[in-house]
Amino acid sequence: MEKTKTFIMIKPDGVRRGLIGEIVRRFEQRGFRLVDAKLVDVDQAHAERHYGAHREKPFFQELVDYITSGPVFAMIWEAENAVEIGRSMIGATNPVKAASGTIRGDYGTSVEFNVIHGSDSQESVEREIEAFFGGNPRA
Ligand code: UDP
Repeated sequence: MEKTKTFIMIKPDGVRRGLIGEIVRRFEQRGFRLVDAKLVDVDQAHAERHYGAHREKPFFQELVDYITSGPVFAMIWEAENAVEIGRSMIGATNPVKAASGTIRGDYGTSVEFNVIHGSDSQESVEREIEAFFGGNPRA
C-alpha cells in the first residue's frame, strides 16, 4: 500500500513540558518515518489561518493565544494510512474522553491544553505542510 504523509504539531504546552522526545519515540515505534521537523514560533496571523474553521467559536481567541504562547514542534511523518493512524495515536480532542495509551489520554490536561495537533484530512495535510514548511519540506 502507498505511503502518505501527515502533519503533526506538538503544541506549546507539550514543548514546555518536555514531551517532544516521548512523542517522536511513539511515532518512530509505530513505524512512521520522520520526513522533516522544526521548532516554529507561530505568529498571530498564522494561528488564525491554521484554526480558521473555528473562527466563530467562543474559544477561538484563547486558542490563538495558546498556540502563539511559545514554540511549537512541527513535524511531517510518513506511513501507510498516516492521517488515520496519526489521529488514533493522538486520541480524542478532550483528554477526559481520550483513551489511555493515546497521547492526549496519557498527557493531556484539558480540552484547551491538549498537547498535540494532527491533520484530519489529506487536504489539511497539504495546507498545513505548505503553511509550516513553505511548500519546501525535505522529501
Ligand atoms: N478546543 C478548545 N475548546 C473546545 C474544542 C477545541 O480549546 O471546546 C481547541 C483544542 O486545542 C483543539 C483545537 O481547539 O485541539 C481544535 O479543535 P478540533 O475540534 O479541530 O480538534 P482536534 O482536531 O485538535 O482534535
